[in-house]
Amino acid sequence: MRKLVTASAVFLAFLSFAISAEFWGSTESNKYHYPTCRCAENIKPENLTVFNSPEEAQQAGYVPCKVCNPPASGNNTQNTSQVLIYSKNYHLCCRVVDGDTIVVDIDGVCEKVRLVGVDTPETVHPNKPVEHYGKEASAFTRNMVEGEMVRLEYDTQRRDRYGRLLAYVYLPDGTFLNAEIIKQGYGFAYTRFPFKYMDQFRQYERSARESGAGLWAK
Ligand SMILES: [Zn+2]
Repeated sequence: MRKLVTASAVFLAFLSFAISAEFWGSTESNKYHYPTCRCAENIKPENLTVFNSPEEAQQAGYVPCKVCNPPASGNNTQNTSQVLIYSKNYHLCCRVVDGDTIVVDIDGVCEKVRLVGVDTPETVHPNKPVEHYGKEASAFTRNMVEGEMVRLEYDTQRRDRYGRLLAYVYLPDGTFLNAEIIKQGYGFAYTRFPFKYMDQFRQYERSARESGAGLWAK
């Protein structure tokens, strides 16, 4: 009898989960998650958007998170999308702070990572106003890497004086985030300190400025 009660309770719990499935998104991102996703833990309450179905999320312009892999449609069948296997050199980017700073989970430790050689307009500085194109730059970086697996490459200096890791960030398809931000006009080449891609980054900035990309638009 006791077993039966337990089994029914489990079944009911499952049923209520299946019926009242809800998905979480953030107004700062374009991904939706299962509420249990480790990326969803970082959503600030004031930015939380709750969807009752994947369709609802997608109509609002959201795409499924690649980490928790929520269904793309509400028929609740097994999600058949491929589970990608990454080498140990890849780490989850669980949050984007702003255009040039991200948070990466390295063996269970959330590390702040400052992108080397690039500077994006300020959005989160406690005593500076939001700069022109800052919001767009944050959104660009967020759409590129939040909820994605990334590979970090270091230059000569591994951490800055705030303890943040200093790194070049790559996506599994080879996209080089630091360079892409400058090429598409979401940030500047940051040349105050020397780094190995300084010449390239300066060139990318020049091209972006000449073509009026992003913040360089006339
Ligand atoms: Zn997720």
